[in-house]
Amino acid sequence: MTDARISKSRPTSADVAIIGAGPAGLTAAYQLTQQGYKVTVIEKDPVYVGGISRTVEHEGFRFDIGGHRFFSKSQEVVDLWNEILPDDFIQRPRMSRIYYEGKFYSYPLRAFEALWNLGVVRSTLCMISYAQAKLLPNRNVRSFEDWTINQFGRKLYSIFFKTYTEKVWGMPCDEMSADWAAQRIKGLSLGAAVLDGLKRSLGLNKKPNDGMATKTLLETFRYPRLGPGMMWDAARDKVVAGGNHVLMAHSFKQLTQDQVSGRWRLTANGPDGDVVIDAAHVISSAPMRELAARIHPLPACALSAAPSLKYRDFLTVALKIRSEDLFPDNWIYIHDSKVQVGRVQNFRSWSPEMVPDPAIACVGLEYFCFEGDGLWASSDDDLIALATREMAILGLCDPKDVVGGAVVRQEKAYPVYDDDYAAHVETMRSELEARYPTLHMVGRNGMHRYNNQDHAMMTAMLTVRNIVAGERVYDIWGVNEDAEYHESGTEGEQAALASVRDVPARVTKAA
Ligand SMILES: Cc1cc2nc3c(=O)[nH]c(=O)nc-3n(C[C@H](O)[C@H](O)[C@H](O)COP(=O)(O)OP(=O)(O)OC[C@H]3O[C@@H](n4cnc5c(N)ncnc54)[C@H](O)[C@@H]3O)c2cc1C
Repeated sequence: MTDARISKSRPTSADVAIIGAGPAGLTAAYQLTQQGYKVTVIEKDPVYVGGISRTVEHEGFRFDIGGHRFFSKSQEVVDLWNEILPDDFIQRPRMSRIYYEGKFYSYPLRAFEALWNLGVVRSTLCMISYAQAKLLPNRNVRSFEDWTINQFGRKLYSIFFKTYTEKVWGMPCDEMSADWAAQRIKGLSLGAAVLDGLKRSLGLNKKPNDGMATKTLLETFRYPRLGPGMMWDAARDKVVAGGNHVLMAHSFKQLTQDQVSGRWRLTANGPDGDVVIDAAHVISSAPMRELAARIHPLPACALSAAPSLKYRDFLTVALKIRSEDLFPDNWIYIHDSKVQVGRVQNFRSWSPEMVPDPAIACVGLEYFCFEGDGLWASSDDDLIALATREMAILGLCDPKDVVGGAVVRQEKAYPVYDDDYAAHVETMRSELEARYPTLHMVGRNGMHRYNNQDHAMMTAMLTVRNIVAGERVYDIWGVNEDAEYHESGTEGEQAALASVRDVPARVTKAA
């Protein structure tokens, strides 16, 4: 199915218009199509569906925007994945390590290996600084740095936490809130880590389904053999086969509601000019900030709250390197301040079918950045040169073996949770939902939530049920990070259920 064919037809009327063909938008489109609804999806990308979960193809090599594991605690989501892609899941071994000063440390840590790699002197220093932190803890814990040093000692903090965390979030650890560290690393004490490492070293830790193991130690994961984009291509094809429309290269421009009929007019700008879709409902997975700014007349929150929502951006430099395989890991965390790269993905380890030439390896160097900063604005050639240099600095390849590269920029990869974000989201949600019962916000940036595909899908699945029911039976804001949900109950219950993935907030500086 070519994208050109899909975008040729220009429907003007639909039951539901959907903004964005990512996991949330396509899940909604797929389920509505199954139930006989007329649906039109607009997607600004000219080529790819899948949003952040797309798989980019470059000269036959495929790569993700970050590797995307398919894992959900929700059976409903797993069933839907199997329904959309019944024959193409593979089970992959998981291996990831931390790179620090030329050595690799298993992630999660193995005690003997870590002590061996660090050497006697440094291991002793780690233990001394750990003992210091326990005997003389900082009593005025404000920042991520304070909290983590208290927990692990300064030496271990500087080896295993500082550099990577600062690269990801673009702010110093002494400016990130301690709350975030406490939530993110809760329950992980050095004692527990060492004990867990000992058990793993001795092969005694074989229960991937208990407690912390569920979150961090999954030994294998499911993955579509051609990457996550394969899932979303299949969903798009089923929507189109069901007689509905996915308009590629169409950007959301304006949304107006007819005061009399209550129907929406969604204007999208495409290659042949503007398209207007008339629809009873609109589902938006576009960033909340953009949605509010494009509703006409402007809602109050478009000026008061929306402009304050912030994002962290991301880019991947995929390098093709002459080598059968460079390393066995799916990905390596780079804890090294000599380079800017934060993580290196190895796409053959995700799926051998992603890399068509057995003599060439394909790796993705991930850089965390802000749209418009030095990294983001660098030319593709400069970024490929930087990635090549950094692979050499890390000792992961010889630059003369690099035979090609490609750059993918992902704007708004991470919605930022700063001090005020929750209040802004709540302002927008309450105004837009109260005023427009037929306008539905779903997904990651659509709800400004730092969550995975399964969560984004679950918000779309519940929205479909609400549309079918003709009222908001389900509260999609109560879907938690594990894509679990509960029917609307009392306000207190919902507040307790609503949980979000943790992202650091900046420490409020003392006046
Ligand atoms: C580095 C990284 C690694 C990740 N790893 C995993 C993982 O291992 N497993 C996992 O399950 N999840 C993972 N995720 C999360 C996953 O990518 C997202 O949860 C998921 O893609 C969210 O789906 P969505 O449909 O809500 O949003 P998106 O994926 O952002 O899709 C939104 C779509 O809307 C389109 N759109 C936006 N604005 C407009 C507009 N104005 N007009 C028209 N179209 C528009 C976009 O182009 C996009 O296609 C990862 C994310 C990142 C950044």
